[in-house]
Amino acid sequence: MLRSVWNDFVGLIYPRLCLACQEPLVSGENHLCTGCRAELPYTDFHLLPPEQNPIGRRFWGKLPIRHALSYLRFVRHGRVQHLLHELKYQGQRDVGTALGQLYGAELHATGLAADFDLIVPVPLHPKKLAKRGYNQAAAFATGLSDGLKVPAGLNILRRNTNTKTQTKKNRAQRWENVATVFEVENPGQVIGRRILVVDDVLTTGATLEACGAALLAAGAAEVSIAAIACADR
Ligand SMILES: [Zn+2]
Repeated sequence: MLRSVWNDFVGLIYPRLCLACQEPLVSGENHLCTGCRAELPYTDFHLLPPEQNPIGRRFWGKLPIRHALSYLRFVRHGRVQHLLHELKYQGQRDVGTALGQLYGAELHATGLAADFDLIVPVPLHPKKLAKRGYNQAAAFATGLSDGLKVPAGLNILRRNTNTKTQTKKNRAQRWENVATVFEVENPGQVIGRRILVVDDVLTTGATLEACGAALLAAGAAEVSIAAIACADR
């Protein structure tokens, strides 16, 4: 009771805002307002058969993927872009955790937890990690772990070298760039495990593909991938 009065009082001075639309949240809402919860562009790819899943297709002939999942569709200038901007550039680590919890609970409800032994985030380069203070993919992984009730291994993958900016390279150069970057820190933790590799945004899928390939090479039984949002290529 006291705590709720205190929260209401704090809320008067510092209203909590919806992370997607910036409108004040009301009592009972956390991170996202009810309107945004209802209207975000969910992909529902986890409900599709694999051959109809558009992001699963991006990995055809490149990497065997069990499940290809994305919570949201990336829409430029929309609420999803705002959420990702808050997560990556405004220090709002909670956005990743909250979206992970929501999505994890949804995947758990459809029985998907049984298909994963471990959740592994795409690692951030140490320099970027030092600058941002957290890995946004790890925040998502932590939330997913909570919602799916599947453990997360936050230090399984390591990023070796500082990747140069991707934008000026062609596809082959980009692939070469990422393929050499990821290394499994402790193969003992991945051998025989079914791993869900997660990132904030999926565009070409090259980063997740490189991580998945490194995990399979280290002895993982199976790889699935999940992103907060997927963009058109
Ligand atoms: Zn909202």
